[in-house]
Amino acid sequence: MLPLVSVFEQLGGEFEEVVFLHDPPTGLRAIVSVHSTVLGPALGGTRCYPFASDDDALADVLRLSRAMTYKASAAGLDLGGGKAVIIGDPRTVKTEALLHTYGRFIEDLGGRYITAEDVGTTLADIEVIRRETRHAGGASQSLGGSGDPSILTSFGLFAGMRAAVREALGEPSLAGKRVAIQGVGKVGSGLARHLLEAGASVVVADVDAIAAARLAEELGVEVTEPNAILAAECDVLSPCALGGALNDRTIPELRCSVVCGAANNQLERSGHAEAIAARGIVYAPDYIVNAGGIINISEEFVPGGYVPERARASVARIEETLTNVFRMAREQNLTPAAAADQMAEERLRAGREERLEAAAQ
Ligand code: NAD
Repeated sequence: MLPLVSVFEQLGGEFEEVVFLHDPPTGLRAIVSVHSTVLGPALGGTRCYPFASDDDALADVLRLSRAMTYKASAAGLDLGGGKAVIIGDPRTVKTEALLHTYGRFIEDLGGRYITAEDVGTTLADIEVIRRETRHAGGASQSLGGSGDPSILTSFGLFAGMRAAVREALGEPSLAGKRVAIQGVGKVGSGLARHLLEAGASVVVADVDAIAAARLAEELGVEVTEPNAILAAECDVLSPCALGGALNDRTIPELRCSVVCGAANNQLERSGHAEAIAARGIVYAPDYIVNAGGIINISEEFVPGGYVPERARASVARIEETLTNVFRMAREQNLTPAAAADQMAEERLRAGREERLEAAAQ
């Protein structure tokens, strides 16, 4: 039995709806958190992970759903923030029967939550879930979906990098700039391609030495050791691996003018935004520059359906959004991270007021 009092304490009045899904015949144990639908249906992926406890799963889904609200709001989308977790090892727990049951649960939420791929779930899983619900995004383009989100995440990151470089160095061009990429998975490798095309020089590192070597062979980029990449001398450092890359140990060692990467939660704690600013380094808030994937998925829900060219144009606007964040930061003497939060919160506040006015009429 879950300690209900502590669950309500964790929710703290901030989350609209948290649903526990349990289906013993298939072994499904999942939690859906709808943080906010103020700006629209709550979009966020389903993470499948063998959490050590139900409390860990709940803490994670709450944190992630809140982050999605901020990301969608700052990106100017008519979407709210949500997230789901399926508790279990993704290699064994995701039977077809379980995914069907999960899809039916999502359908029962009536569109308040829209799911998508996340860590531990795949495009193939989403396609099974979609047989039961209309409220799942990110299926392959052949099925009318928006396909692999990482392609436009890389493109959006590159667009954001132009704004960050303009802020730090006076002009947006990446030509002749040196960029260090930590992690050359789906997003980091895509970014490397955009950068080379723009005339930048690129150095990469990955704990998966084979992935780094493969990219070096294919693109001719330089490779360094994973423990040296964050301190590499460069114009732009792009963390594209895991969260927490910027912390008490790594910030003093940075030798770049700009940090602009796709990894979620790059700052280990909030004070690190100030620590980076104090070093004279421009930080591009992670959830602003990595919003390409969610912007891409949101295009599936525009009347008329997904159009690749329109999605690309929407993602390119990350450059403008980040430029606005930097302007707000300068005008209000905030760090870019605080300015991004403020921008997201202002839209949410306006949305809430609109709702109240509509209800009063
Ligand atoms: P991925 O798993 O394809 O790639 C991550 C890469 O980082 C892997 O190759 C891994 O070996 C490497 N790595 C892990 N730890 C490392 C370390 N300490 N040093 C160097 N390399 C390391 O993931 P991805 O889809 O490319 O996403 C990258 C980051 O961007 C993640 O934090 C993800 O949450 C975030 N993100 C991705 C998307 C998307 O559309 N894929 C959207 C938004 C945010």
